[in-house]
Amino acid sequence: MATAVLNKRKKTINRSKVKNKSNKKFVYYFGGKQSEAKPGMKALLGGKGANLAEMANLGIPVPPGFTITTEACGLYYENDMNWPGGLSDQITEKIDQLEKMMGAQLGSTEDPLLVSVRSGAAVSMPGMMDTVLNLGINEAVVRALIIKTENERFAWDSYRRFIQMFGNVVMDIEHEEFEHVIEAKKKAVGVHLDTELTAEDLRDIVSKYLEVYGREVGSDFPQDPRMQLDLAINAVFKSWNNPRAHRYRQLNDIRGLKGTAVNVQAMVFGNMGETSGTGVLFSRNPSTGENKLYGEYLMNAQGEDVVAGIRTPKPLHTLKKQNAKVYDQLLKITQRLEKHYRDMQDMEFTIQEGKLYILQTRNGKRTASAAIRIACDLVKEKLITEDQALLRLDPKSLDQLLHPTFDPKAPKDVLSVGLPASPGAATGKIVFDAHTAERWAQERNERVILVRIETSPEDIGGMSAAKGILTARGGMTSHAAVVARGMGKCCVAGCGDLNINYSKKEVEVKGRKFKEGDYISLDGSRGEVYAGEVPTQEPKLSKEFAQVMKWADRRRFLKVRTNADTPHDAIVARKFGAEGIGLCRTEHMFFEGDRIIAVREMILADDRAGREKALKKLLPMQRSDFEGIFVAMKGLAVTIRLLDPPLHEFVPHEKENQKEMAEIMGVSVDKVRQKVSSLSEFNPMLGHRGCRLGISYPEIYDMQVRAIMEAACIVKKKKIKVYPEIMIPLVGTVKELSVLKQNAKRVIQQVFQEQGTKVDYLIGTMIEIPRAALTSAEIAKEAEFFSFGTNDLTQMTFGYSRDDAGVFLTEYLNQGILDYDPFQTLDASGVGELIRIGIESARKVKPKLKVGICGEHGGDPNSVKLCHGLGMNYVSCSPFRVPIARLSAAQAAVASSKKGKRK
Ligand code: PEP
Ligand code: MG
Repeated sequence: MATAVLNKRKKTINRSKVKNKSNKKFVYYFGGKQSEAKPGMKALLGGKGANLAEMANLGIPVPPGFTITTEACGLYYENDMNWPGGLSDQITEKIDQLEKMMGAQLGSTEDPLLVSVRSGAAVSMPGMMDTVLNLGINEAVVRALIIKTENERFAWDSYRRFIQMFGNVVMDIEHEEFEHVIEAKKKAVGVHLDTELTAEDLRDIVSKYLEVYGREVGSDFPQDPRMQLDLAINAVFKSWNNPRAHRYRQLNDIRGLKGTAVNVQAMVFGNMGETSGTGVLFSRNPSTGENKLYGEYLMNAQGEDVVAGIRTPKPLHTLKKQNAKVYDQLLKITQRLEKHYRDMQDMEFTIQEGKLYILQTRNGKRTASAAIRIACDLVKEKLITEDQALLRLDPKSLDQLLHPTFDPKAPKDVLSVGLPASPGAATGKIVFDAHTAERWAQERNERVILVRIETSPEDIGGMSAAKGILTARGGMTSHAAVVARGMGKCCVAGCGDLNINYSKKEVEVKGRKFKEGDYISLDGSRGEVYAGEVPTQEPKLSKEFAQVMKWADRRRFLKVRTNADTPHDAIVARKFGAEGIGLCRTEHMFFEGDRIIAVREMILADDRAGREKALKKLLPMQRSDFEGIFVAMKGLAVTIRLLDPPLHEFVPHEKENQKEMAEIMGVSVDKVRQKVSSLSEFNPMLGHRGCRLGISYPEIYDMQVRAIMEAACIVKKKKIKVYPEIMIPLVGTVKELSVLKQNAKRVIQQVFQEQGTKVDYLIGTMIEIPRAALTSAEIAKEAEFFSFGTNDLTQMTFGYSRDDAGVFLTEYLNQGILDYDPFQTLDASGVGELIRIGIESARKVKPKLKVGICGEHGGDPNSVKLCHGLGMNYVSCSPFRVPIARLSAAQAAVASSKKGKRK
């Protein structure tokens, strides 16, 4: 192992002594209209590297360079942070090639070569990992640059940027250390913008920066460009595992990647004066999807100036006036790249003294509504097929479209207007830092709005926890804007009226002061900021959304039902395309109005007669609930689950509330207390609940079955079709089901006789207990349908309490013991295996048995795909997740039809 640098902030590069016996190629060259890479090498070269190689092959002007593979980074981690054998030599070889092509050399005092060093994983993770620009400058090189470019200001500016970036990214020196120096200088010379600093000012800043570096690091700034390069590459490798990159991968469910690629590329300069510039552009509007070039640029600037939001960039169309030739060239390249990748592109470009270079292209991040519009347009333009369009959409992102907007009629106290950076509406309490945002959202369940001067990648957790993001600085491509759009979160950026004082936790807007905890509201589609809370309204869906859903419905095998307990939820879900109710939890109805009194009366009763008396009061209320739901569902199947939770959930546990209950019920407080204590259990989730209640107190289920069937008959008599499915919860042995089914049938026959009519119905069961899944062949003989209750099935398979697992699950996820929360995404190998056994054994007895899922997993895209593969008939999820499930089911069908079968 060789130690390159030892100092206060000990940064070392460890090179493995192990030889590269298999002669693995770790470095790929690109440039001069060709590259060493072949198409389809994204996993190895990362998105950026693969696209740079592809652009070079297409003859698009990219600055030449080379890409170090993701495999090299993976081996670096596998070998305890040692560079793999052979990597260093391969880099040397490619530097030679690059120097020859550029006619310049690293560290040369005549023709110095400067390079950028950028990360680039196989899946884009914007801003999460590290970048170093202007690498290769030292004391001698800066002088050579002055002579060569005859632009002293440019040379010093590049050097100071390099020291700052290298110091921050590679040596972990706080940004502020450098910012203080530059701010003090600006103040001293009386200017506002960095661009107003003269060469002399910048030279002075460089010498102060070098002092900061020496003080913070404990050694001088490295003068050897190769050492600079190796340290920068090492830092990029390391940045793959920095906390924010980790968090980003977790939030975006990015798994199975070994590391990042590193792209080393000859520098081109957008800060060489007024004929130079830099910008970012999207080939279509990333907020709306409109097929119109959309971007921003700054003259005399480097890339980070555009995204950092320090100067406000100009809209791209004004470049036409500034340099029509470059604008036209950019337009042509954009169209070419869009056709090539058959998708909307997000590009970075630099103009160096009038010459255009493309620094990167990638499929652009976009809002959900833009994604849908773009997918539909690309199908119309015959660039992609309907199936490809379906696969391109992220089902989870549909969430963005399904959430409320502000009621246009509601009065609004407009405080200010910023940039409409990410659409949507958000109301919440002001917080000024990411940590508080996370804390308030998680611990207090508060809706918060994160208000910042600008955001940085460290803020990712708080941005995710907040309902909306408001920044004082930055354009439409600033960090806040890009990240918020990716998250589908409402964001207003660049709101210059905000005067934020972090230490006082206060923001002043046009003379009005708001403190942490005060309410504000944001309209991310209009860029407006309002004081106080503003009511919201249900979203309206676009015709493109309807189009995509139509394609999805044509493709999918799985039906999609909803979990709904009220007619209102049922109506909302039908609008979203629900094809039935997969779970109506009857206990939710027990809490409404004064029915809880009747429920408690039943619980307090000493005998069956007493319970029946109380249940009689409940019957008409339950019946009218079911009538409402049946009417809303108009003949679609409605699965109603009989009472499931343990009875203690319906009685108060606080002394005060017990006293109140005793008064209302006209009994002694002691009686209430005794009852509550007799209902208490050590493990209520494994206790007296579900069908066990139905066995102990058959009169409860009798009342519920009667209410369901009476409601069905009444609705049928109104000439509305009705199809009830009665579901028995928590069955573990077939006997439980057969006893309860017999009871139910007896009541049903009575009701049919009394009503003088009949309706079709089914009696089925939930499969929530591992034993039920394992003995499903027996249970299937009695059950007319199965619905997998995967919340309980997960609880009982893992042995994790649904209510207590949160405490250690976060730890498990952080330590990688679990890849994901099994209560959100079905555990394919454990719970999934039980479901597979459950379905296969049952269908041996009843080949046509209808099988669905009604646990929370029914609306999770990966779980829906698993359910498709397991041969279920339907999934059931909350109303707002119905479109997500429809699209996920279609994606599963498209993916499996590619393999020529359903599964
Ligand atoms: C389940 O267990 O998956 C289920 C749907 O029932 P509940 O969540 O009501 O226990
Ligand atoms: Mg359950």
